[in-house]
Amino acid sequence: MSDEFLPFSRPSISRAAIDEVVACLVSGWITTGPRVKKFEDELKRYFNAPHALALSSATAGLHLALAALEMKPGDEVITTPMTFAATLNTIVLTGGKPVLVDVEADTYNLDVSQLSKAINKRTRAILPVHFAGLPVDLDPLYALAAQHGLRVIEDAAHAIGTEYKGKRIGSFGDVQIFSFHPNKNITTGEGGCVVTRDDKLAEKIALLRFHGMDREAWNRFGKTGSQHYEIITPGYKYNMMDIQAALGLHQLPALDGFIKRRTELALRYQKLLAGWPQWTMQGTPQYAHRHAWHLFAPLINPEAAGMDRDAFMQGMKERNIGTGLHYRAVHLYPYYREHYGFKRGDFPHAEAISDRIVSLPLFPDMRDTDQDRVIAAMSDLFKRK
Ligand SMILES: *Cc1c(COP(=O)(O)O)cnc(C)c1O
Repeated sequence: MSDEFLPFSRPSISRAAIDEVVACLVSGWITTGPRVKKFEDELKRYFNAPHALALSSATAGLHLALAALEMKPGDEVITTPMTFAATLNTIVLTGGKPVLVDVEADTYNLDVSQLSKAINKRTRAILPVHFAGLPVDLDPLYALAAQHGLRVIEDAAHAIGTEYKGKRIGSFGDVQIFSFHPNKNITTGEGGCVVTRDDKLAEKIALLRFHGMDREAWNRFGKTGSQHYEIITPGYKYNMMDIQAALGLHQLPALDGFIKRRTELALRYQKLLAGWPQWTMQGTPQYAHRHAWHLFAPLINPEAAGMDRDAFMQGMKERNIGTGLHYRAVHLYPYYREHYGFKRGDFPHAEAISDRIVSLPLFPDMRDTDQDRVIAAMSDLFKRK
C-alpha cells in the first residue's frame, strides 16, 4: 500500500497560470479589472453567448439569478433534492419556496416527466441541476417552461463542457450558472459565472453583483473612470477578483484536455468495475450528450459489498484513498424538514441515491496507476479474490 494519500479531487494549475497570478499581483491591480474583463470575453466566446458575468462563486450566481425574479412570498421554484445545499438555500434566501421533484433512479437527474404536476399558479421558475456533468433532458423541460411562462435557471456547476444533443450547456436556453470551485472542472480558487442571452437579466445581475452601483465602478480610481457613482438598488458584493481571473484565463483553454482525461478515467473505471456486484453505475440517457465527468459517482450495493457507503468511505480512507459524498438529499437536512415538512419517503429515488452514492477519485492529473490503487484498495476492502 502506498503511503501517499490520493485525494478524490485535485486542481491542475499550470506554470503559466501561476506566472499570470504573480503578474497580476505585481501589476498593482488585484481586484476586479482588466483580467476579469478578458476572462468574461473568453467565457462569452466559449459559450457563444452575449453575456457571461464573472462572480465570486456559483452560489452568488444562483443567488443573483433568483434575486432577479423578485419573488413575492409564496412564489415557488421547482428543483431537485439531489444537489448541493446552495441550490435550495438561495431559493429560500431570495424569498422563494423550494418545491421538489424526484430524480430518475439511474441518471440522478430531475425526472422531467414528473415536472408538470408540480407546476401551479405560484411557480416562477424551474431549476434543474446537470448532475456530475450529465445533462438534464432540456427539450421537454424548456417546452414545459414556455407553456407555463416560467424561467429556467440551470445549475450548471458541474457542467462546463457538457453537451446536450450536440449543443454546449450555456450556449442556448435561459440562464446557466457555472462554478469554478477547486473541485469543479475548471477553477479560479473560488469563483463562478452566470451566462445568459437575456440583456435585461444580465444588466440586473451586473447591477446586483456590485453594490447596486449604476456602472461597473471598478475603474473609478483609474484614469478613465469617473469618481462618482449612483446606487440604483441595494446590491451584493459578488464580484470576481483579477487574481482569480488570472487562473481562469489559463484554465479555460485547458478545459477540453481536462475533460478528455476525465472521460478516459471514467471509462476505465467502468471497464475495471464491470461485473462487480458491489456497484451500480450512473445511468446513461437515450439522447445524444457529452458527459463532462465532473464526478464519477456510482452507487454502492451494501449487501454485495458487505458494508454501507459510510463504512466504504472510512475503509478507503484507512487505505489512503480519498472519496467524496455528493450529495446527501437536501430535503433530509433539519432546516428543510422543519420548515417545509419534508420527510424520508417523499423522494424515494433521491433517498436511495443519497444513501449509496460515493465519488471516487477523478481529476485530470490522476494517473492510471493511481486508479489501479483505488481498485486494489476496493478489492482488499471487499475481500474480492
Ligand atoms: C459546487 C456547487 C454549487 C456551488 O458552487 P460554488 O462555486 O462553490 O458556490 C452549486 N450547485 C452545485 C450543484 C454545486 O455542485
